[in-house]
Parts: sequence; structure tokens; C-alpha cells
Amino acid sequence: MRDFGKTKRIVVKIGTNILTKGEGVDASYVRRIAGQVSSLLKAGRQVVIVSSGAIGMGAGCLDKTGPVRGMKMRQACAAIGQPLLMTEWRRSFLRYGITVAQVLLTAEVLNNRKTYLNLRNSIETLLGIGVVPILNENDSVSTDEIGTAFGDNDKLSALVASKIDADVLIMLSDIDALYDKNPRKFADAKPRAVVFEITADIVRNAGGKGSAHATGGMKTKLEAVKIASNAGCRIVLANGRLKNVIGRIIAGEEVGTVFMPKRKLSNRSRWILNSTPAGTINIDAGAMRALRNHKSLLPSGVVSVEGSFETGDVVMLNDNAKAVTSLSSSQLKKLAGKHSTEIKKLLGPKHRDVVAIPEDIVIIDY
Ligand code: GLU
Repeated sequence: MRDFGKTKRIVVKIGTNILTKGEGVDASYVRRIAGQVSSLLKAGRQVVIVSSGAIGMGAGCLDKTGPVRGMKMRQACAAIGQPLLMTEWRRSFLRYGITVAQVLLTAEVLNNRKTYLNLRNSIETLLGIGVVPILNENDSVSTDEIGTAFGDNDKLSALVASKIDADVLIMLSDIDALYDKNPRKFADAKPRAVVFEITADIVRNAGGKGSAHATGGMKTKLEAVKIASNAGCRIVLANGRLKNVIGRIIAGEEVGTVFMPKRKLSNRSRWILNSTPAGTINIDAGAMRALRNHKSLLPSGVVSVEGSFETGDVVMLNDNAKAVTSLSSSQLKKLAGKHSTEIKKLLGPKHRDVVAIPEDIVIIDY
């Protein structure tokens, strides 16, 4: 479980709380992380860093002490803070002769299959030439209001780990581990060393939100764990302030909580799973049973359609699955409940009578 000997590709996510100090970046902390990452690179591993802290740093620069409220101010603070953050990373890695690269992401980039493949290529190229890509959300242009934001870097790091086939995702924050109950409320809460499955009980007992500038908390971390573990990636949650924490995790020391993956989905399935659905196709129990047995979804099993979507869009199938639909919402509205023979009679023999083939369907609640 803790054998990371064969680990090649590592994503390290670092939260705002541990990266910032007072009103700026904690330069000595960034230097320590750079030192740990450089040892991993020397040992032939590849590392991607997901660094929060832009908003917090921008706020510090403007002498704002409390949480940054309002979309516009968060965008402004991110634009001010991001270059400061990168300056610190660049300077720290240069001490080890390592070049860093900045990659800023929006949820849209990851939803769109073409831009996602571009992202994958550029990260592959950077890793191939020994550069450390440093990722963050492009907070100045992506907002919840226009539906393009990830919301938090926990999710972003998990999506990236999934998309670049990382072996392990290390999430560093000021939380030591996952506990059996919320440690901020219960003194007798015990840390869990390993988790095989995120049960409803685990989610219920997880604590809430993190700090003033960060958006994540234990709940978002658990969501992130689900995303990354569908890619066959192990996740380690640990306190980023521990001495040589990254090195110790990779050496197999029992630090924090390790989450074991349950399945490894294909690349295309992961893209489907992680895309924002354009609508919902409600299907009957028989059709759902057929999907679980790796059969296609036919119009006869469709009960109703919600939202407006096109051929090729990712949609929800009830709450249980996601799929790439071969029929648009307007086509499906006409064909819902109809059998193939009726469809052929109605629209001609060449008309498509399959909503989604098994390769385009991913069950969520497997
Ligand atoms: N992207 C935000 C920042 O750099 C942080 C979001 C988060 O902490 O999850 O400030």
C-alpha cells in the first residue's frame, strides 16, 4: 500500500494555508518544497505541482487581511498574486538548476476534448525535458458565475492527475490526515492510515471548509480522491509542514492517509466521467440494467430528456452514469420510448437508433 518504489509520475498539490505567511508567500517553505522535488527528479521521477496561493498573495499585496469577497476582487487578487507566486517558485527551483513552467487552467479546458489533449501534450513535453510544470486555476478569467471554474484546486489537481496518468497525487495542506470524525470538533478523533473506499459515513464525518483564502476543505478533498482514484491513482493526504514530507511519503513512510484506487478507467472513460454534463437523459430500470451489463442505450429505454444538448455532448443518464450521446436532445425527444423498428419506419432505415454505445458510457455508482 505504501510502496511507492515504482512511482514515476507524481502530482503534488499545495494549499494556500501552507504556502502563504502573513501577507505574502512563505519563501522558505517554497524553497524546501523545491529541494524535495529536486531529489525526486534526480531519482528519475516526474513531478507536477499544483500551487494555490495566488489570491492570498494578491490580497496581501493590497493589504487586505480578511477573506477576499466578491468575484471581481478575487479575479483582481489572482492576477496580482499569480506572478508573485511564480517568481518564488522560479527562484527556488533555480537553486537546483531546475526550470519551472506556468500552466493556468479553466474547467472549460479540461471539459473540451481537444484542449484537454493539448494540455496533456504540453505537460508531457515539459516533463520529458525535465521541467516542473506549476499549475493553478486561471482565477482571473474563470468564475463560478459563468460556470467555468473548478472552484478549488483539490478538484483541479485530481483532474490533472487523472488526465496525465499520475501514479500518485499528494495533497498537502494543514490537515494531518483523514480522521474518523472531525478533529476540529472532537478531541478523540483518530487518523486513518489507509482508506479503500469513501463511504457515506466518511463523507458525513469529514470537516468543512479550510481557511480565509483557500476554497477547499475535507469535503472537496474527498471529491478529488474519487476523481483521481478512478484513474487508478493513489492519493496521499498529509500535513505539508512535516519535515521532508514528500520524500518521506515516496519512501513509503506511514504519513497522513493513503487512499487506494478501486478501478482504472480508460482515458476516454475518464474524460467522459470528468466532463460537465450538458443535460440528462432519464432512462427506465431495464435500460439501466442493460448498461450495467455493457449493452448500448437504445431510444426504447429513454423516458424523458432534460436540457438541450447536441450529438457528441456528454450527458447524465439518471444519476447513475454518464455518456456521450449520439442523438441530440431534440432528436431524442421525438424518439424516446420508440423501438428500432418503429424508428426505421418513421425516419428511414439509415437513421441512427442507438443513443450511446458501451464504450461511450461510464457507470458512476459502480
Ligand atoms: N486558485 C486559488 C489561488 O491560487 C486557490 C484555490 C484553492 O485554494 O483551492 O489562490
